[in-house]
Amino acid sequence: MVTGRMVDTALWFILRLLTFNLPKSCDIAIVGAGAAGLATAIFARRFNRSRSVVLLDGARAPGAKILVSGGSRCNVTNVSVSERDYWGGRPAVIRRVLRAFPVDDTIAFFREIGVGLHEEAHGKLFPDTNRARDVLAALLHETDACGAQLASGHRVLDVEPVAGGFRIVTDHGPLQAAAVVLATGGQALPKSGSDGAGFAMARRLGHTIVPTTPALAPLLLDATDSVHAAVSGVSQDVELAVWVDGAVAIRLTGSLLWTHFGVSGPVALNVSRHWLRAQLEGRKVSMTANLRPGESFDTVDADWQRRALANPKAALQTTLASMVPGSVAAAILRQLTLDGGIPLAHFSRDDRRRLARALVEWPLPIAGSRGYTYAEATAGGVSLAEIDAGTMASRTCPGLSCVGEVLDVDGRIGGFNFQWAWSSGFVAGRALADI
Ligand SMILES: Cc1cc2nc3c(=O)[nH]c(=O)nc-3n(C[C@H](O)[C@H](O)[C@H](O)COP(=O)(O)OP(=O)(O)OC[C@H]3O[C@@H](n4cnc5c(N)ncnc54)[C@H](O)[C@@H]3O)c2cc1C
Repeated sequence: MVTGRMVDTALWFILRLLTFNLPKSCDIAIVGAGAAGLATAIFARRFNRSRSVVLLDGARAPGAKILVSGGSRCNVTNVSVSERDYWGGRPAVIRRVLRAFPVDDTIAFFREIGVGLHEEAHGKLFPDTNRARDVLAALLHETDACGAQLASGHRVLDVEPVAGGFRIVTDHGPLQAAAVVLATGGQALPKSGSDGAGFAMARRLGHTIVPTTPALAPLLLDATDSVHAAVSGVSQDVELAVWVDGAVAIRLTGSLLWTHFGVSGPVALNVSRHWLRAQLEGRKVSMTANLRPGESFDTVDADWQRRALANPKAALQTTLASMVPGSVAAAILRQLTLDGGIPLAHFSRDDRRRLARALVEWPLPIAGSRGYTYAEATAGGVSLAEIDAGTMASRTCPGLSCVGEVLDVDGRIGGFNFQWAWSSGFVAGRALADI
């Protein structure tokens, strides 16, 4: 449990930050005090108290993403996490990092710093207090207790390799460090301070940046879609298929939320990176929704035939509304120009097959996404091929490490992105004890 004392401590901590003076040098400088940077600082100091750690963040109050995450409740991790929950770089690298600090260790770590976690739907783990601010307060308190120095309001402008380490150029002057960790996040929610500057720094330090797109972003539908505006606010389970160059590249199932601009909800957010990346690569990409997830054209068509025999007087719209939400049923019939009032006995074979096809392959004319402002993550980033999975150290720039979302790893909805931040922070912190 996070106590009142801890919240007081956080306030005291903020006051201390206001009087912070940037030291001239340190052993380890961490750029970015989000989830991954805080974890790196804590573990670096836990593994070796003799290493001085300075955590620099451009934001006056770091941890903005932790605060807004999970609807301000912070979905800290998930009961079941594996490399299959992520996209981006090589799964073997992701697996190795996750296994170094698995979910059980995350739960124990948070319990230790005063944040008990409980499980909710889909294995998501949230703080028992249901307050993201308690997660952030506990992390900040632990950072301070470990003796890492947090320099908030210190924007890093560049990182230059020099003899014996790095010169970190900040808007408050330079800092010399033997090792540097890039924990600058991606580009999602840029007002939080994660605006992609870390990619430019990594590139200047010799890294390949896998081109980036928003991930976990709501999707916009173009004006040819007549359904979404009419059913805004309705959610239903669907299977989304992304078609690339005429073949299905990925199918994902889950809850879809129709909105005034297009589609959102877990399945749309998860699929967004696939559509956006295919578009980025200049491929021919489209998306369809199976409104009867788990069914095929043949099974849906057979189902309609069965229903017509069993209940020939039932109206088409009433029958369809027993399969999908009523307002969606009405919108589909409108779009297909089918009369919802006709009894199933009079439903022609051609129209029945047209409807069955529409139900399993409803076209979603995606016009794009709502962009980084509304995205929860970034796909792409520092190539995993250039990172040692046992240490998070750069293979191209000795002394540099990368953790968290700045890397080419993006998780699906459900606590997986934070788990990546905790695990990669742990791996880097442990390795930095030996510099
Ligand atoms: C609305 C929203 C909700 C989310 N909910 C969840 C959730 O419930 N569960 C989950 O697992 N994931 C969630 N995520 C994703 C998760 O927040 C991120 O994946 C995670 O925070 C990444 O951690 P990070 O430390 O790598 O980067 P960030 O959290 O982005 O932190 C990077 C830090 O670096 C700082 N920085 C950047 N550039 C510089 C610079 N040049 N100089 C100094 N400082 C710099 C930034 O100010 C920032 O504080 C959510 C994201 C959003 C946007």
